[in-house]
Amino acid sequence: MKKGYFGEFGGCFVPELLMPPLLELEEACESILPSEDFRRELDDLLHGYAGRETPLTLCPTLSRELGFNLYLKREDLLHTGAHKMNNTLGQALLAKKMGKSALAAETGAGQHGVATAAAAARLGLSCTVFMGEEDTRRQAANVMRMRLLGAELRPVASGTKTLKDAINETLRYWIAEQRSTHYCFGTAAGPHPFPTLVRDLQSVIGEETKAQCRSTFGALPDVVVACVGGGSNAAGMFYPFVSDPEAGSVRLAGVEAGGTGEPGCFSSAPLNLGSPGVLHGQYTMLLQDKDGQILPSHSVSAGLDYPGVGPEHARFQQDGRVEYHVVVDEGALKAFARLCRAEGIIPALESAHALAWVLENADKLPAGGNVVVNLSGRGDKDMDIIRGHMPELCMPARDAEKEDRR
Ligand SMILES: *Cc1c(COP(=O)(O)O)cnc(C)c1O
Repeated sequence: MKKGYFGEFGGCFVPELLMPPLLELEEACESILPSEDFRRELDDLLHGYAGRETPLTLCPTLSRELGFNLYLKREDLLHTGAHKMNNTLGQALLAKKMGKSALAAETGAGQHGVATAAAAARLGLSCTVFMGEEDTRRQAANVMRMRLLGAELRPVASGTKTLKDAINETLRYWIAEQRSTHYCFGTAAGPHPFPTLVRDLQSVIGEETKAQCRSTFGALPDVVVACVGGGSNAAGMFYPFVSDPEAGSVRLAGVEAGGTGEPGCFSSAPLNLGSPGVLHGQYTMLLQDKDGQILPSHSVSAGLDYPGVGPEHARFQQDGRVEYHVVVDEGALKAFARLCRAEGIIPALESAHALAWVLENADKLPAGGNVVVNLSGRGDKDMDIIRGHMPELCMPARDAEKEDRR
């Protein structure tokens, strides 16, 4: 297989000026990443600072209702509230070992910006975060968090002023600042070597899950489900299963965001509704019109709102090793509310998409079997969106109780 390619997907389609830092990073991935020193230091950070390992939690109520054992891999319990910290701590430590003094990052909803700012603060690196102007207005709380953690925020005013434009702007900044700065890319996408680097750093999720399944019920699970935005939590969960010959019978399902699901409305589901093309340095599945213009993506969960997807998922789909499905906003909101009430866990709206697919297809899943959903993050960040969809939650307490008794 050609380096940086997953079948026909992947690659490194960037301007020449970006090749030196990408080659330097590729070299570091080969020499530093596998070293024992690096692994030990990263393990210490993940354990002592970020809170690994995360539990595998059985959902007793839902399991009874669904007729199989539903387990959640609890990335929501990781520091800063999602799996993103696995990636940013790994890249921050790698940058430090490469002799860099600064991190740059793009962010959409702000979650990756916060996780990068935290990792930079922890490791004594400075941090610059690029965020679409539109997103800085929608995500004021994360803007504050990033600044508290010492990051400098650069609003991006080009294009649609969202994630896609923030990535382009960070790549441009990296050309100028490549000597001092590492670009801490937020998902398992972009030019080689990022898809492989991010997948390897997130694979701790799938490795732990396999070991926890063996010690909890003495076998690998029947089905494993994860939501897919750029594809990092799903790649980190799936890869240890895909690469394990003993895991060949484990069914793997990725779930993309279908948006409102109304005809003519935009989604964030390039694997199901897109076509191949080049974006952000990679050849992959994209939401684009017939002229190759990128379409605006939409989802109730900002973290799934990316018009492309990591190239390895395009390969998994083509091979048939992983199946990819679509869940619309309403399904995710229902699953969100049901998990809160049934199990006392408030999931991120992104993760609720994965759970929703399980709830919507429960009758086709193996009765008495073991199903694992990767709970990629917690829902605290989503309260503003939830308020818009469930206004009754904000009634004055006395009125709400009256409403209940009716
Ligand atoms: C960012 C985010 C995602 C989507 O990103 P992937 O790279 O596809 O994993 C999913 N869940 C949560 C909680 C997130 O914060």
